[in-house]
Amino acid sequence: MTDNIQVTIVGSSNVDITALMNRLPGPGETVLADSYQLSPGGKGANQALAAQLAGARTEFIGAVGEDSHAKIALGQLEEAGVKLDRVSTSRQPTGVAIIQVDSGAENSIAVVSGANSTVTAEVVNAAGTLHGIVVLQGEIPASGIKTAMDLATDKVVLNLAPVIELDRDYLLKANPLVVNEHEAALILQQLDGSETMSTEAEPVIAEKLMAHGLASLVITLGANGCLVVEQGTEMQQLSAVKVKALDTTGAGDAFTGAVAARLAHGDTLAQAADFAGKFAALTVQAHGAQASYPRSLDAL
Ligand code: AMP
Repeated sequence: MTDNIQVTIVGSSNVDITALMNRLPGPGETVLADSYQLSPGGKGANQALAAQLAGARTEFIGAVGEDSHAKIALGQLEEAGVKLDRVSTSRQPTGVAIIQVDSGAENSIAVVSGANSTVTAEVVNAAGTLHGIVVLQGEIPASGIKTAMDLATDKVVLNLAPVIELDRDYLLKANPLVVNEHEAALILQQLDGSETMSTEAEPVIAEKLMAHGLASLVITLGANGCLVVEQGTEMQQLSAVKVKALDTTGAGDAFTGAVAARLAHGDTLAQAADFAGKFAALTVQAHGAQASYPRSLDAL
């Protein structure tokens, strides 16, 4: 029974432990923090929630620990109706991101991958068939990403964030590759086998990435929107919606999930990216990552 799944996200889920404080501690120092919050995060889970809320029947495949954080990590996905039957339980703890934020919004983050590090080739293979558009990020082991690409029967949306080493053949299976400008430059460096990272303008980096044989590419540019390019078509720059940004945490994940949802509905990449830009613009106007994702599409 596939439940007519349109988008399958194979990736990470975390609990973000965010402590708010006046200033960040230096090495060996203790500061008293004002408050803390526990919230669900992880790029895979964020993107799964976004894809579901953007209108696609979505499945999330990942791993959590046998601990109380597991419920928090998956709570929003469950509430939104994301299919979770193939999330595995690991002896490792649920992934956590320990985040310190000071009064000037400067932060420092330590991520403990925990159960996410068990989403390897073996675990992905054990899951079996992957339905619909497959979405992947860089927060699970490369072997899990590659196996998911091998099992995909539809397009693979690859958001290689963070940028990890991936064989050239697999990088080029992305259709589209969705990355921000920094990640785009790092991936170009990987494909070029270069010692240094390109500091060229984004359209030049996009052209060079496409010249390596990518089928399609989106480079997100924050408040400047995004670049969209498909093999054989002119590059397009789509502007972002002008809004007052309050918190951009998780905006890139909202964008990627929404792109996948619209591709599953048959949009062209430019149409999907245009919709995703509007969806992501809603999320930057509220605090948090998953908490800021729109529960209704009426405003779009
Ligand atoms: P980023 O990961 O920061 O490049 O953001 C991903 C996408 O979210 C962008 O391509 C925009 O569509 C949207 N976005 C991010 N920041 C803003 C902002 N300040 N205002 C409007 N849209 C934004």
